[in-house]
Amino acid sequence: MAEPRDIVTSDRIEKVVVVGGGTAGWMAAAALSRFFADGKRTITLIESSEIGTIGVGEATIPPIRNFNGMLDIPENEFLRETRATFKLGIEFVDWGRVGDRYIHPFGNLGRDFHGISFHQLFLREVFRGAADPSSFADYSMSAVAAGLKRFGRPSADARSPVSEINYAFHFDATLYADYLRRLAERQGTVRREGKIVQVRRHGETGDVASVALEDGVVIEGDLFIDCSGFRGLLIEQELETGYEDWSHWLPMDRAIAVPTQNVASPDPFTRATAHSAGWQWRIPLQHRTGNGHVFSSRYMDEDEARSILLDNLEGKPLAEPRTLRFTTGMRKKAWSHNVVSLGLSSGFIEPLESTSIHLVQNGIARLFALFPDKPISPAERDEYNRGMRDVYEDVRDFVILHYKATQRDDSAFWRDVRAMDVPDSLARKMELWRLHGRVFRENAELFALPSWVAVMLGQNMRPEAYDAIADTLDEAKVRTAMEQMREGYRATAERLPTQEDFLRRAGAWYQDQPDTPSVRFGSFS
Ligand code: FAD
Repeated sequence: MAEPRDIVTSDRIEKVVVVGGGTAGWMAAAALSRFFADGKRTITLIESSEIGTIGVGEATIPPIRNFNGMLDIPENEFLRETRATFKLGIEFVDWGRVGDRYIHPFGNLGRDFHGISFHQLFLREVFRGAADPSSFADYSMSAVAAGLKRFGRPSADARSPVSEINYAFHFDATLYADYLRRLAERQGTVRREGKIVQVRRHGETGDVASVALEDGVVIEGDLFIDCSGFRGLLIEQELETGYEDWSHWLPMDRAIAVPTQNVASPDPFTRATAHSAGWQWRIPLQHRTGNGHVFSSRYMDEDEARSILLDNLEGKPLAEPRTLRFTTGMRKKAWSHNVVSLGLSSGFIEPLESTSIHLVQNGIARLFALFPDKPISPAERDEYNRGMRDVYEDVRDFVILHYKATQRDDSAFWRDVRAMDVPDSLARKMELWRLHGRVFRENAELFALPSWVAVMLGQNMRPEAYDAIADTLDEAKVRTAMEQMREGYRATAERLPTQEDFLRRAGAWYQDQPDTPSVRFGSFS
């Protein structure tokens, strides 16, 4: 066994350098400076306004509230400053079959009875012809509120259906990065404007020692956080870590994005509408709507993709459509030498389930859990890489499910994705569902049981049988309880304010002067 080592100041990482000032860079700088800009350590962020940021990434998933909470960000202020709206889930249109519509809501899907999964009791009703499979969303407080365009923060009273609401945000990515920048700078992050033109390495270890800017300034670091976007300036261009390409499962490689004017009060959900070689997002913010067509260039050219997007907009475009290119996959090692990649430099999975910003947050949390000393321990680095791989693969499998579980055969794209082989980890999940509608959340898997159930049912994957354990409960009693549950969700949702009213009353509507104190994260009143 190794001798315990005395930690002396010189063993500590002192200089952390964040390369890039997009959403990932400022999330990292805000989080790191919250804890580490303590006079003993410095956090420097380098960004180049000439290169700019990707400027998309507007929909999130609920754990973003934990990230903001960690930074002590007042939620109403954040909503106002980033022109944000609430997101209760994603509405999928035309995915299982053309004409289908379902929601993947956040939060619970019904309540379990005596430890038996609600969805098994629901499946029993479906098998007996007493429920339509598509009616599962009636048992989700978030879905019912979303359907009525209403919103309420989760109540602390566990007996209230409102306690079952779970939510995330839609926000303006540029404004979020600006907001985090102000916070990070207040906490001591030093921002350096400039383009990195050279990277210097330690001769012996191969670690990155410093980066040089165009104006000749050299910035040294002990730990580098590569948030330089798709180019992966340090992790790939310098360290040549390698990329695992997943486009054989997820062939989408382009997106055309365009913001439009709002035509109505914003909905508290994202919409994802399938097209013949991809899908279109609609993300309603307070001041505009974000839209984009994600497609595979193997099946559709850019002109056709652009005209499909423009033909399916609700409001007037506010800018010229912009094309973005990507390859789905992940860096073989998210952390190599003394470089931790976060955001697009570490990998990318198309935005169908709005997971990229979460992957940044997840990487930051893991980095905190494994924050190194000098020299960096390979065991801690390997642990980080193992954990990041797990979460990337979780997201990958869940996103692939949306394509594999289609009945569409109206284009070569849909015929191919429906026939493709899927990763073994997903094939196993699909088989367990096919047999008895069983789903298990493995380890710290990102998407919980209700998410899998919603997408599987939403895309018409009917299991061959339900779990026999459901038959141990009295059918009439369960039916009555389910009816009461459904009615409770509906009646509760009808009493909630519309999302716009809620935002206005909270002082979170950007056009209004704040007239009520900001609610802090964690205060769910
Ligand atoms: P970028 O925004 O590209 O920032 C890179 C930074 O590095 C910039 O500041 C740049 O100036 C700097 N830089 C690069 N090279 C140098 C250099 N040589 N010198 C100095 N600075 C340099 N995520 C979600 O969570 N939800 C979504 O709905 C969503 N939608 C998306 C839709 C599309 C089409 C795409 C492509 C992505 C989407 N994402 C989404 C992902 C999201 O946009 C990114 O995860 C997020 O913006 C983080 O980007 P980034 O900071 O890693 O990179």
